Amino acid sequence: MRQVFALCDVNAMYAACEAVFNPTLMGKPVVVASNNDGCAVARNKEAKALGIKMGQPIFELREHVEKSGLVVCSSNFALYGDMSFRFMTALAECAPRIMPYSIDEAFLDLTGIESVVSYEDFGHQVKDLVKQWTGLPICVGIAPSPTLSKLANHGAKKYPATHGVVDLTDRDRQRRLLNLVPAGEIWGIGSKLSKRLAAMGINTGLQLADADPKWIRKHFSVVVERTVRELNGVPCHEDILEVAPAKKQILCSKSFGSPVTDLDAMLSAVSHHATRAAEKLRKEKRECGYLATFMSTSRYRSGDHYANQKGIALPYPTSDTREICRHAVSLAQVLWRDGYRYNKAGIVLSDFRVPGTCQSDFFSRIEDDERDQELMRTLDKINSIAGKNTVRFGRQVHKDTSWQMRRANLSPAYTTRWSDLPIAKC
Ligand SMILES: [Mg+2]
Repeated sequence: MRQVFALCDVNAMYAACEAVFNPTLMGKPVVVASNNDGCAVARNKEAKALGIKMGQPIFELREHVEKSGLVVCSSNFALYGDMSFRFMTALAECAPRIMPYSIDEAFLDLTGIESVVSYEDFGHQVKDLVKQWTGLPICVGIAPSPTLSKLANHGAKKYPATHGVVDLTDRDRQRRLLNLVPAGEIWGIGSKLSKRLAAMGINTGLQLADADPKWIRKHFSVVVERTVRELNGVPCHEDILEVAPAKKQILCSKSFGSPVTDLDAMLSAVSHHATRAAEKLRKEKRECGYLATFMSTSRYRSGDHYANQKGIALPYPTSDTREICRHAVSLAQVLWRDGYRYNKAGIVLSDFRVPGTCQSDFFSRIEDDERDQELMRTLDKINSIAGKNTVRFGRQVHKDTSWQMRRANLSPAYTTRWSDLPIAKC
């Protein structure tokens, strides 16, 4: 599965944090001063438009204060740090894996998410959630490598028509934007390198992307070579990626046989997927620390479209079907909106741990843990011998089975169910 990343970046973070608690600053030019109010360390776009430079001494700005209503704020790093924490917490709600990069930016791993929601819709959901939870405005850039998602974010900030979200997963769009951007603006290049590149005829991002990586390595460095590969959609940023051996995530989801319009039927479908996911997790001999539920209507049918997802960090890592179902169902209840015709729902488990490696607290009872594990082992054993769903949980059973896959022409489970074993007659 191809990897996709979203870079979420707060617009003028420090000034934005100030404006959250002092709305009279909205729309006014604002700079944040360094410690002791020495010089400007952050500017919002209105302040940039006045021509104020980074590092400009505050005493030079007096005229702007008087004539243009410039507001100078002393830096409040305790506030910015806490707002950053809230921003990251909101992001963690949106994606199974988040890689904080600096106080105001983080990469999200969106691999596989397109089966649930379009990248652009997802970007807007993240943007809206961060705004709702923290009041901070962000831009979201989505692309198959961290460097390209930086570029996408740059595009989202620069062009108001994007409404702050750019999906750069399409190669032609990547090339169009790369062609508009000077090489020096590509992440990791900078002014010094861009001069050397210019001397060799490489002026735009696109010319850099089209350069031969081996040639670049010879004349520059392995770091620049990596940038060239990233511009061609090959993720190489080990520091950010540190990916993720194959099984870092379990996703159980299927399109419904016919649309679901009833909450109970939806909960039964979600329980079904949660049960499957928990079984797979135990098969991997892992417990999970994070769980997300999602549901959506079809984008290809008429009527209003709705797609949403919600995740939580579990209080204790678990592989117990009952726990996983309980959380999955309560998330589904939060996500549910009446009046839609849902065509898909599912569960994502991640943040895997080896059982027994997480310290339990003073109040947890070890003997209960052991009984629970034995129960799950027995359940798996019965179901593996007698067939899936021989023993199941009440929530999975529901009179409305419209959510179940349409499988009118299903062939027998020749290789996985004893009763379906083909019989050869001679
Ligand atoms: Mg920023």
